[in-house]
Amino acid sequence: METIVKKTDKNQIDKEVIREAGDILKKGGLVAFPTETVYGLGADALQEEAAKKTYEAKGRPSDNPLIVHIADYEDLKKIAVNIPAETDALAAHFWPGPLTMIFEKSDIVPYGTTGGLDTVAVRMPSDPVAAELIRAAGGFVSAPSANTSGRPSPTTAEHVLEDLGGKIDMVIDGGSVEIGLESTILDMTVEPPMILRPGAITADMFEEVIGPVSVDETILGSESKKPPKAPGMKYRHYAPKARLAIVEGDLREEILAIRQLAYAASREGKKVGIIATDETLPFYKYGLVKDIGTRENEKTIARNLYRILREFDEEDVDTIYSESFAMQGIGKAIMNRLEKAAGHLRISAAAVVKEQRYRRIIFVSSADSARGPMAAELLRQEDLEQEYVIDSMGIVVLFPEPANQKAEAIMKSAGMTLAQHTSRQFNDENLQDDVLILAINEAAKSKLLAEYQNAVNVYTINEFAEDETEIPDPYGKPLTAYGECYEVLKVLVGKVAEKLNAFAKGEK
Ligand code: AMP
Ligand code: MG
Repeated sequence: METIVKKTDKNQIDKEVIREAGDILKKGGLVAFPTETVYGLGADALQEEAAKKTYEAKGRPSDNPLIVHIADYEDLKKIAVNIPAETDALAAHFWPGPLTMIFEKSDIVPYGTTGGLDTVAVRMPSDPVAAELIRAAGGFVSAPSANTSGRPSPTTAEHVLEDLGGKIDMVIDGGSVEIGLESTILDMTVEPPMILRPGAITADMFEEVIGPVSVDETILGSESKKPPKAPGMKYRHYAPKARLAIVEGDLREEILAIRQLAYAASREGKKVGIIATDETLPFYKYGLVKDIGTRENEKTIARNLYRILREFDEEDVDTIYSESFAMQGIGKAIMNRLEKAAGHLRISAAAVVKEQRYRRIIFVSSADSARGPMAAELLRQEDLEQEYVIDSMGIVVLFPEPANQKAEAIMKSAGMTLAQHTSRQFNDENLQDDVLILAINEAAKSKLLAEYQNAVNVYTINEFAEDETEIPDPYGKPLTAYGECYEVLKVLVGKVAEKLNAFAKGEK
């Protein structure tokens, strides 16, 4: 089947497109269309056969009921019975909008649409294209997300075509969606009403209108053994092809842990994806890093989540690490979808971080012009099991200078360079629990300890490498002296690397 694609603008709806799409739906066909949450796969909700086609196109298990979309509030009474009194207030506040309510169904709703249940889920979308289409189709359009079952929900018409091109009659392209996550589902058949799926409309917002609501305990976390009350929530949904793990902790720990995990995975030759935010983007060096939005406005994160999961699929990454997001407002819905995408795989940031004793290594010499920078560059070239920021600094650096020319000449002949180096003064900001300080000799170490009483993790290179070979001072001597110094440093730094790698393996 060839899928017709028609564009229309929300602000200037093409009536002809809507009429054509409405006719397809009335005849029992399938039309994908934009809503404010995600793209929906529309079918006439009152035709049993149309529901069957929906399940087939999506590859969706047929016990997973569809949400019926309406455009006019009066239509609710035609498909639902025993509608509780609070419904008016909820509808007045949140309809049209990203809220789905569940009621006892009336006889005109076929079991094909409700997955065999005696209840029906109903929503009134706010997207004007959706509303016009629903009216043109006769008032009742079932519309699950327009993706292949198990893939991330579509937030653009392109996503719909990726999954369902050739399998459905038509796609109405109305641009990107506004919210990006599926509607909040509220079960109105229980007292008090119960949230079965978190979304843009939160428990607090309901509370302001009708008082307390309850929450299906299976929504977050894998602890609950009970099946979720919304049948669809039991499937590993929204999932990318890659293994996705959510890293949890405070934000600083999450960043450190993800850096470490991404470094380790890259060393194994794996392609790693990282879900980061505007605020944390600059901290990552390894892996394919994607910016999901800003922590200042979690709506941006909701809007980009599914697109980013799809992009990682296209780039064929093996493993994705994601930061966690605050569980406030729409954050709950974001974490709920992320957890499902991850199949509940969570990693404690603190546990990962604890495994790494040092994160930064600073070689300290007197002027930071030759031996220190050479040692730092040599260590950068080593095959290290864990990632470190490797620097060199001097005890007396009056102004920044490039590396000594003879040192650079020796490094160049060994295939390295100090061209990026500028000498820097050591100061007490560099004294941290996870910083290893390697002094070039006893004199440098003593000066550091004399000047900084709170200094920790300070060793000479010899001490740390457990090798007493003295590092000669080539300053003012011919090139050959720099060459000899290089040879000694190379051996000692090799031993430093071995020791760091032993720490990485958990040896003391
Ligand atoms: P989707 O249309 O892809 O957003 O999925 C619809 C969601 O609504 C699924 O999780 C369904 O299980 C849920 N749902 C639809 N109808 C009912 C119902 N009558 N009772 C409980 N959950 C429902
Ligand atoms: Mg869905």
